[in-house]
Amino acid sequence: MCGIVGAVAQRDVAEILINGLHRLEYRGYDSAGLAVVNTACELQRVRCLGKVKALDEAVEKNPLIGGTGIAHTRWATHGEPSEANAHPHVSGDFAVVHNGIIENHEELREMLKARGYVFSSQTDTEVIAHLVEWEMHSAPSLLAAVQSVVRQLTGAYGMVVMNRADPTRLVAARSGSPLVIGLGIGENFLASDQLALLSVTRRFIFLEEGDIAEVTRRTVDIYDVNGNKANRETHESNLENDAAEKGKFRHFMQKEIFEQPTALINTMEGRINHSNVIVESIGNGAKEILEKVEHVQIVACGTSYNSGMVARYWFESLAGVSCDVEIASEFRYRKFVTRPNSLLLTLSQSGETADTLAALRLAKEKGYMAAMTICNVAGSSLVRESDLAFMTRAGVEIGVASTKAFTTQLAAMLILVTAIGKLNGNISAEKEQEIIKALQSVPAEIEKALVFDKTIEKLAEDFAEKNHSLFLGRGEYYPIAMEAALKLKEISYIHAEAYAAGELKHGPLALIDADMPVIVVAPTNDLLEKVKSNIEEVRARGGQLYVFADKEAGFTETAGMKIITMPTVNEITAPIFYTIPMQLLSYHVALIKGTDVDQPRNLAKAVTVE
Ligand code: GLU
Repeated sequence: MCGIVGAVAQRDVAEILINGLHRLEYRGYDSAGLAVVNTACELQRVRCLGKVKALDEAVEKNPLIGGTGIAHTRWATHGEPSEANAHPHVSGDFAVVHNGIIENHEELREMLKARGYVFSSQTDTEVIAHLVEWEMHSAPSLLAAVQSVVRQLTGAYGMVVMNRADPTRLVAARSGSPLVIGLGIGENFLASDQLALLSVTRRFIFLEEGDIAEVTRRTVDIYDVNGNKANRETHESNLENDAAEKGKFRHFMQKEIFEQPTALINTMEGRINHSNVIVESIGNGAKEILEKVEHVQIVACGTSYNSGMVARYWFESLAGVSCDVEIASEFRYRKFVTRPNSLLLTLSQSGETADTLAALRLAKEKGYMAAMTICNVAGSSLVRESDLAFMTRAGVEIGVASTKAFTTQLAAMLILVTAIGKLNGNISAEKEQEIIKALQSVPAEIEKALVFDKTIEKLAEDFAEKNHSLFLGRGEYYPIAMEAALKLKEISYIHAEAYAAGELKHGPLALIDADMPVIVVAPTNDLLEKVKSNIEEVRARGGQLYVFADKEAGFTETAGMKIITMPTVNEITAPIFYTIPMQLLSYHVALIKGTDVDQPRNLAKAVTVE
């Protein structure tokens, strides 16, 4: 997690660094800092507890002068959020910002203490600063010093190192945490995400795993994991500079909820026509891989895991291929059996989710037929390391609680399911047409769901005083309930649990009382009658129910049961549609509770640490 920005320029860079941090704040926001070196080789460092705004104010009072600098917004892994633990960390002439975790920091710390270094923070990062300082006693250059430091580190890092005595260059290294180089004219930049640099450049080089780069105002030299000079392509970014702006919306999350119709249109563009899924659009060689698929192993975390859980129903019921879904942090540490002709499918908004990436690398060793990712960030690690990459094209997602990434993943997976089912003969031309029609109806249906904003805002008042809540669904609506519960807990801090409605009597019924709102997603489908029985089980125990259903489901409002009648929509894609009222509910509850919607406590986006 965390955001890094660096610059080597002739102009003062403090403002560029802080602007970049603002745009990266979604990645971590418990403390922030920056260090700048001026032409007289003086290092000025400012660090603050809290958000980038605090840093901004501090720098406004005491402007920093200098053309070379590094900056960081932190998501603490080792040591509490505090000014002393905020980056950059300094040792002698050297300042370091780091994203990730140094796993062997304890033994390095002991070794460095024995060499006489004094530690001023509790972070794992500080060992890097002292190691660089130590290596520079014998290394011919900062680049060589960093090369020998990284050989001593185990763990994950994206880092940038600066030398007070030589402000002409920065050295950056990447292993497990993303870093991009932004190319300017007579100035160059570094960041953990291109978003940070869109106001200064649109030309980017993405560092690859193990790369170390030396960046000066006019040159960029990259060395691969073996120390050989590497050529990395320059990419022109097509992201808008205002991609990270809220526009007329109060929060990024709200903006992203309302962007979903457009995001879904973009996901589908070029992938389906009026009657067909265009298999080739899934990627080079997609047909050859997908026609062999007999099993799909989905690996993901958080919201992406929930979307995988929805898709499992589709893979099995529509394409007739067995599908398992597993949380990446479990999968990667389990001795699993690889099934024949199994496709490893990773899901991740950022494409940098550490556990998912590790699972992909492991699966490649364990003989999966092929690896595919459904991802929102072009050029990310998952995209580069998978055989097939299906980009969701949802646009930049800044709100920590994921919304449009979820619904676009669902659409992408339904397209994939259709492609597989079409190739293996389980989906007929007629069925394919039916699915396409359902997919095409989604953007307009979501527009209709968004109309419920005001109704749900009102409903949210019932939840703001509650401490617990239960979400129920069956079939594909069980993972929709899981995602709804995750959203509510993430941003409103209300304890929310999701259950498959059939499980109620196996335990959770014991929790039911008037203080435990029960939210049920119950549109008309084959399981509706079963869900109705589960609703009765709650009613009989005095639970307060909130049922989201269409009018055909035939619910009548009574004391203890509120019905939110949603428009009738296409059954195949209805799980995507029913996600929207759930997102709106958590958003409005959080607003009433006054929590930080876009940057909820203790969380961060792009979970690049284990
Ligand atoms: N492990 C480092 C720390 O706790 C870096 C965390 C981050 O990526 O923000 O300071």
